[in-house]
Formats: sequence, C-alpha cells, structure tokens
Amino acid sequence: MSSLTELNRQIEICTRCDLSRFRNKVVPGEGAEDAAIMFIGEAPGYHEDQQGRPFVGPAGQFLDRLLASIELDRQKVFIANVVKCRPTNNRDPLPTEMQNCRHWLDQQIEIIKPKMIVTLGRYSMARYFPGKTISKIHGTALKKDGIIYFAMYHPAAALHQQSLRQAIEADMLKIPALLAEAAVVDEAKPEPQQLNMFEV
Ligand code: URA
Repeated sequence: MSSLTELNRQIEICTRCDLSRFRNKVVPGEGAEDAAIMFIGEAPGYHEDQQGRPFVGPAGQFLDRLLASIELDRQKVFIANVVKCRPTNNRDPLPTEMQNCRHWLDQQIEIIKPKMIVTLGRYSMARYFPGKTISKIHGTALKKDGIIYFAMYHPAAALHQQSLRQAIEADMLKIPALLAEAAVVDEAKPEPQQLNMFEV
C-alpha cells in the first residue's frame, strides 16, 4: 500500500473536530503521489462532501478549465484542501478546525514533496503568505526551502466576478514558467531557509 493510501485511510476515520459529525464523506484530496505541483483550496463543498473528491462542483469544473489552459493533466497534479470535511452550509472554516486538520495536509506535502504549491483563496494563502492580502499578492510567488509557493484567487470567487476571473486566468498562465524554475531550484539545492519574494 502506498504511503498516501495509508494516510488517506487515517484521514477518512479522523474525528479530531466536530466537522466529522456532520460530514457525508471525508475529502482527503486526490492526484499523483509524485506530483510536481499541488493545488490547495479551502474546504469541501456540497458536491465534494457527496463524492469524497476535491473540486468536483462548479468551482472544480472551472479549475479543470484553468488546468486545461496550461495543458496540465488533473491526474498528474495533486489537489487538496486546508480542511478535509465540509463546514456546515459552506461556512468559512474556523481557526480551530484548520489547526486540527493542519497535521493531515503537512503529511500529504511530506509524502508528495511537490516542487510547487499553488494556494487557492485566502485560507490556504494565509498559511504560506502570513499577513498578506490576496488582492495584493495573487499572481506572485515565494521561494522557500526549495519549494515555490504561488498565490491565486479561489476559483469559486473568480467564477462569477469578471475582474477576478481575468486575474485567475492570467495568473494560471504564469505557472508553466514557475514550474520550470522550480525544477532548477530543485537541482540547485538552495540553502535552507532561503526566502525570496519575487514578482512574475
Ligand atoms: N472549494 C474548495 O475550496 N475546495 C473544494 O474541494 C471545493 C470547493
């Protein structure tokens, strides 16, 4: 059994917080164990909770179109969320829920070892770009410990708002060059804790 399959089994029986009492299905995340790039959203919605799969509702269909725009195959990336169970009525996840769930995402990243992490929306952005505002930093990247972090708007927010939609579509087009750069970063093996903010 792969490490990710074993981890998923543990996530599926998690009762660390009250979200576990109301879920239909846990949504651990899905994709390739050797994915070079991970996309991290907020929390499952209705459709994800029904199917146990991330980004399968309208926001997910938009994400699929964005991935297709740069010829990224959904099977070759890894898609996960900050919180693995649906908050009731799609409310925002609570700080305690995110804290309780942090452990699972950390382990997923540890196993997958992505070269690039794309944050989708404010909640995953806050984790890697603390204190930043999404309207200011979307479309910019941060290089840390050999991983490139890249902030984007959430597809659900961008779906119905024209200005955000143009921004997320344009930001997506920056990913191929960053992924190529991530491969170079990987080969160069930078010093630990190296931290550079750069505009792309
Ligand atoms: N929104 C998210 O943040 N994640 C999903 O999986 C679906 C919608």
